[in-house]
Amino acid sequence: MSRLLLGLPLLASFASATVHYKLTPLPSSKSLLVAITLDSANASETFKIPGWSPGYYQMADYQKKVYDTKATDSAGNLLTVRKLDSRSWNVESANGGKVTFSYKVQGDDPGLGFFAVKVQDDKAFLNGPAAFMYSADRKTEGIDLKIQTPAGWEVATAMDPVGDHSYSASGYDEFADHPIQLGKFQTKGFMIDGIPFSVVFVAPNNTAACDMDAETERLRKVSVPALHMFRGASFRRYLYILHLEVGNFSGGLEHRACNVQAVANSAQLHLDDLAAHEYFHAWNVKQIRPANLGPFDYTQPQRTGNLWFAEGVTDYYSKLHTYQSGIQSEAWLKGQLLAQIQELQNGQTRKVKTVEDCSRECWEGDGFSVGDLSYYTKGLLAGFILDAAILDATNGSKTLDDLMRLLYLQHKLPNPGYGEDELRNAINDVAGVDLSDVYNRMIRSTQELPYALLSKIGLKVSVPDSTANPLRLAGSRSGAPLGYSLEVDPNATPRAKKLYQAWLHRLD
Ligand SMILES: [Zn+2]
Repeated sequence: MSRLLLGLPLLASFASATVHYKLTPLPSSKSLLVAITLDSANASETFKIPGWSPGYYQMADYQKKVYDTKATDSAGNLLTVRKLDSRSWNVESANGGKVTFSYKVQGDDPGLGFFAVKVQDDKAFLNGPAAFMYSADRKTEGIDLKIQTPAGWEVATAMDPVGDHSYSASGYDEFADHPIQLGKFQTKGFMIDGIPFSVVFVAPNNTAACDMDAETERLRKVSVPALHMFRGASFRRYLYILHLEVGNFSGGLEHRACNVQAVANSAQLHLDDLAAHEYFHAWNVKQIRPANLGPFDYTQPQRTGNLWFAEGVTDYYSKLHTYQSGIQSEAWLKGQLLAQIQELQNGQTRKVKTVEDCSRECWEGDGFSVGDLSYYTKGLLAGFILDAAILDATNGSKTLDDLMRLLYLQHKLPNPGYGEDELRNAINDVAGVDLSDVYNRMIRSTQELPYALLSKIGLKVSVPDSTANPLRLAGSRSGAPLGYSLEVDPNATPRAKKLYQAWLHRLD
């Protein structure tokens, strides 16, 4: 909520901004009016709407919602706006100087604004890349934003505040990564280690069916483990935006200091591991990231073989941290991991595609998987097995947490992201031994995952032979898995039992 955010020290100022945005929601026409003013424009300036939104690896058609483009000079004279291609508009001004380019965005996203823009009578939501064009040559210039809202509307965003409904960002990548909730909603909050967290409940008729205090307390609990594991964060405040209404998408999307979740307006939300997943991304993918995922090229797909790490390992930690938060039990954790093993083994695509291929090709899939191979699922299990391998190699003195902390120190912004082959080297550094064979088998081959390595941390995995009787893999009539199990091995060695405790309780 803006009141809570405005109480913070002002960390940026208007003075450094050269690109000025003004945002006005127009509920009567279900649209947004956006105006971009450049202090000293070049004779020719090109404005572009992104072709995709970081976090969702699919091309989008945001340009289809843009209309009523206009440009004026400092005297208010109309300038010619020329369409260069489907996503680019060019403005020419003979004298340069101050130029304002404006446009409207139709806010009728069927996902209720999750990836795009939705404007309703009492509220509006925008995902930055869907609403804000960028000046092609000015992506790293300072930005400020003024929001003009109808009476009684509030603003929720994690962007740095600089005044009443005014914000700033150090460049377009940061600016676009702060979604904005406007309108009437309920706000709760908590602090962890001096960092303020806000939770915004956006419900139909502003009436949430859940116990907002109880749900906020669950979110507080799941927000602790990652912050402690990384021993700090790159965000100065954090915002959970909860859309309690589902359009054509249900789930979550991460941002650098915020996440948005769309779920039904039910009595119990219990977001837990979904929330933990999106929150963990504030480190893994927003800071620890493949080199081409920040700074961003918004014009075309940005392929990387490492989405298994960005998404799958994030999902692994979402399970671990939900357990560590005290919300869920050890049995729940093992049940979740077992379900992932089943899901992977029940698929067929894993036999012909590596998880690295799956990561690169997801732009042609649904953004989550290729065929029935999900880089979330195989990536989660690869993270699990790497964790066990590191514990084994270091005799219990290190875990995957040490890898994450190392990568965070090396790659957090403004440092560059990691190269395509860098993760393997970092894993070997942390393990102190060469785990390249394990890495290559899991990430760069279609061989079965080396589940037997989990015995090093006292876990016994049973996976049926998929070639023996494929029909068995569908599960029994009662829905219980057939032939799958993940259990603590009562016959494990004392060393393995010790490593199991180190895995479960981590080492901090
Ligand atoms: Zn994710």
